[in-house]
Amino acid sequence: MSMTENLAPAETPISETESTRPSSLTFKLTILGAGSATPTLGRHPTAHLLTHNNEYYLIDCGEGTQYRLLEQKIRPGRLHHIFISHLHGDHYFGLAPLLSSLNLAGRTEDLHLYGPKGLDDILTTIFRYSDTRLGYPLHFHPVDAAYPTVLADLPELTISSIPLEHRIACSGYLFREKPRKPKLLRDKLPADVPVEYLKQLKEGHDIIDGQGQVIYAAEDYTTPGPPPRSYAFCSDTRYNERLINLVRHVDLLYHEATFLEDNAKRAFEVFHATARQAATIAARAEVRHLLIGHFSSRYKNFQAFLKEARQIFPQTSLASEGLHIDINDWQY
Ligand SMILES: [Zn+2]
Ligand SMILES: [Zn+2]
Repeated sequence: MSMTENLAPAETPISETESTRPSSLTFKLTILGAGSATPTLGRHPTAHLLTHNNEYYLIDCGEGTQYRLLEQKIRPGRLHHIFISHLHGDHYFGLAPLLSSLNLAGRTEDLHLYGPKGLDDILTTIFRYSDTRLGYPLHFHPVDAAYPTVLADLPELTISSIPLEHRIACSGYLFREKPRKPKLLRDKLPADVPVEYLKQLKEGHDIIDGQGQVIYAAEDYTTPGPPPRSYAFCSDTRYNERLINLVRHVDLLYHEATFLEDNAKRAFEVFHATARQAATIAARAEVRHLLIGHFSSRYKNFQAFLKEARQIFPQTSLASEGLHIDINDWQY
């Protein structure tokens, strides 16, 4: 039985449909929350869910994130990695409830949590006074917001931190896929080729006989795998050109845009960015697509954000609750 089946709480009727179940090609972002700190009806604080192949990665966990996961028919028990950008409440006030619910559901699998120093103390205090004893190992990985650091080197993905410039320590996160395996040209090979040969060719290895002669050269029977894909999440930050090199050429860049450019002075004072500034980073970093969000609650309509950003970087979208971006759909 898989871990997911083990952990689903019996009373919670969650089932993943074919369309929500990740496949081995999936590279998809789901926006669970795109708002900022002030509560606004119809908006939710920051939370992004990245689906890569068979894994989910939760990035920020604003208030109510566990309900957003339920709405999206995502089983929280499938999470193994959670990333928190900083300790302003709109980015992590949903975390303790989510961790508690996983416990109630009987989780035993390891969970890795990445975030600023102090997050561990906060959780320890909450759990101590609520007499919550986690039945699963929670591994806390403190993230130093001063330097870009490789946080996780997984078989298919490298995850690094991105230093941001905010009022308190704040990190973005970069998810970069490792080179993908070559595609096998099955039709070019004889029908009776052993399965073991196919596996080796797919790994890019030549098939060599006992005398050292190449029987099948990998380059003759495979085509290169598709280009690796990448997603950069840049949470609350001032405009900072140091970001440009760190997110260069990513497929999808999320960059906050709390204000419009006519409030650039205000944005600077409160360590946030404007739509124009987000687009400038995207253009100079030559990313494929830009997503902006974290709009101040003073704005009721976000089309002006889109217009302002697209003047600098046309491939811009607005983050909104429930939005799915499937990077597989993009043409290479
Ligand atoms: Zn925020
Ligand atoms: Zn903040």
